[in-house]
Amino acid sequence: MKVAMYYNQQDIRIEEKPIPKIGDDEVLVKMKACGICGSDLMDWYLKNRAPLVLGHEPAGIIEKTGEKVKDFNVGDRVFVHHHVPCLTCHYCIHGDYTLCQKFHNTNIDPGGFAEYFRVPALNLQIDTLKIPDKLSFEEASLIEPVGCCLRAFKKSGIQVGDSVLIIGAGTTGIIHTALSKIFGASKTIVSDFFDFRLRMAERFEADITVNPKTDDLIDVVKGETNGIGVDLVIVTAPSIEAYKVGLKACRKGGKLCVFAPTRPGEYLRISPKELFFSEIQIIPSYSTSHLETRTALELIKSGRIKAKELITHRFKLEETSEAFKTALENKESLKVIVLNEE
Ligand SMILES: [Zn+2]
Ligand SMILES: [Zn+2]
Repeated sequence: MKVAMYYNQQDIRIEEKPIPKIGDDEVLVKMKACGICGSDLMDWYLKNRAPLVLGHEPAGIIEKTGEKVKDFNVGDRVFVHHHVPCLTCHYCIHGDYTLCQKFHNTNIDPGGFAEYFRVPALNLQIDTLKIPDKLSFEEASLIEPVGCCLRAFKKSGIQVGDSVLIIGAGTTGIIHTALSKIFGASKTIVSDFFDFRLRMAERFEADITVNPKTDDLIDVVKGETNGIGVDLVIVTAPSIEAYKVGLKACRKGGKLCVFAPTRPGEYLRISPKELFFSEIQIIPSYSTSHLETRTALELIKSGRIKAKELITHRFKLEETSEAFKTALENKESLKVIVLNEE
């Protein structure tokens, strides 16, 4: 079978690999659609693991099932989550599923940018979801990123009527914009350096969009919040500057959600004195669990999250290298999808 082997951002090769053999309690899935995630574009994160097959937002059709598999059949259309928790460790029983060691160790084999992938038993049991007929594979490939954003909102404890600032309007920034409305925000402000993305944010019901190249974000936020700042800031841009601005835009007692990691070795200076008196809460949210993926599927199915409108580019598996280039360089791109067509 064909796989897209990642050596580095500029070097992704189509290679031949044997189709994975499955165990009695596993299934083989034929990939149909798999999104490129922001984390697939973080070279520092992947450098030490390459060469590898990326792709963790896959949807496809079950091609083969092991003898002991009961709940799935050949021909089922499925979304598969690449990471699943053990449900019993200290982290899991505290609801911190994404910190579970098993969560980090589980994965699909070899990855989503391949003609076929093997779904290990635990992934099949805990977080393989059947795709409703009305959803396309490409829409289902958005389940994972929507799940990540949902988890951030849940962790942030947003309340109806809150004001929200989203810094960075890439795919996840736009999903956050849509979720902000769903969670009942009274006002959603979205900031990005690229006007294309701000127009997309408006399509997803942002109330106010700001390009910091032309307008001062803090002035706008203060003007919109009677001078006090927003209740919740979500930073989806991987930059220290974005976090600095985010802290300034947050009201006293508000929350700042850390949704994007910066490069290793980059630090944000925080004064405990200022943090103490401002009581701003810093809430990081990494990845998504089996709880949010189910809700994400429902939100996409119901049309509350318009998954299709998030997809700006589609490439064939053979063109994965070009797909990465587009995701990395084209500032008029949001979700870039790799498709495995007949
Ligand atoms: Zn992702
Ligand atoms: Zn666990």
